Amino acid sequence: MVAAELWLRYSKFSPKLGVVTCGFLVSYLMYFVIEPYVDGAQMTLMMPIMIALIYFDRKLLTIMGLFRVVFYAGVYFGLERRLLHKPLLEFLMVECVFIIFVGMALAVIIRAREARLNLERLTKEGQDLMVERAISDKLLKTDALTGLYNHKTFHEYLDSLLEQCESNNLNLQLALFDIDNFKKVNDTYGHWVGDLVLKGVADKVGGMIGLNDFAARYGGEEFAVIFTDKSYSEAYEAVEELRINIARIEHLHAGNKPITVSIGICDYQLGDGKELLFRKTDNALYAAKERGKNTVVNAFENDGDEIASYG
Ligand code: GH3
Ligand code: MG
Ligand code: MG
Repeated sequence: MVAAELWLRYSKFSPKLGVVTCGFLVSYLMYFVIEPYVDGAQMTLMMPIMIALIYFDRKLLTIMGLFRVVFYAGVYFGLERRLLHKPLLEFLMVECVFIIFVGMALAVIIRAREARLNLERLTKEGQDLMVERAISDKLLKTDALTGLYNHKTFHEYLDSLLEQCESNNLNLQLALFDIDNFKKVNDTYGHWVGDLVLKGVADKVGGMIGLNDFAARYGGEEFAVIFTDKSYSEAYEAVEELRINIARIEHLHAGNKPITVSIGICDYQLGDGKELLFRKTDNALYAAKERGKNTVVNAFENDGDEIASYG
């Protein structure tokens, strides 16, 4: 035991090999001690093979098994046959049991390895599926050109937010953005430039809103932003800042001319419901267009105006 302890501590060999070798020595000691009194004492010699099985090490088990068979042959022909006159049949039976046991232990290790590989493959497939699902979920929810949320997701989100607003008395503002004279951009520079402009404006909107705000491409050249953690004046300032920054974007392919947006913004009043919120915001947007575009109109200052909805 002391020798084993020292060896395990200082040897370069793996502890696994150390334990198996100790098992080997101990098993032979046990064998020589109990052999005179017990029939079939050779079974104690299985110990190191069992230890190799516990480690699930195929190579170790094979080496141990071969060594065991050869070593026992040496013990038998060197000692037992000469001194104890043990019959050859007993030797052959013991060797057969060794070989069969090693074979079965190897089969167990191979099966366990297959099971582990299967489990790894299934886990990998599960992970791939999750990634695929996340990607397709994102594709379903976002607009392909701008990367912002799409119209459907916007409405789903707004519905659930309004419910929360009503039950928890929370703040919410809706802003609708419409690019000014966008048709002219398309007509002058072509639709592909129009697409680039749309993407540029969308990137600015998506990049400037807060973590708790929500931006969507509402329609062709229209965007919607929902603010959830701001006071009305903060939301107003945020859209005003957005308007200024959008006008500053340099559109290389559109002759570097500023592209502006008109914005209508409305603070949600409890009890209004989605339809009225939209009508008020839409009217504010329409008023912004009427006032010469590139401006923000807030639904309160616009309240009472009997303006037809902006299409
Ligand atoms: P206003 O200032 O009044 O908003 O004028 P406008 O020209 O922006 O508005 P209008 O509604 O007349 O034109 C919107 C144009 O947006 C028409 C349509 O061809 C274009 N549009 C809509 N979706 C896309 C798109 O995905 N890509 C491109 N390139 N153009 C689009
Ligand atoms: Mg429009
Ligand atoms: Mg427009």
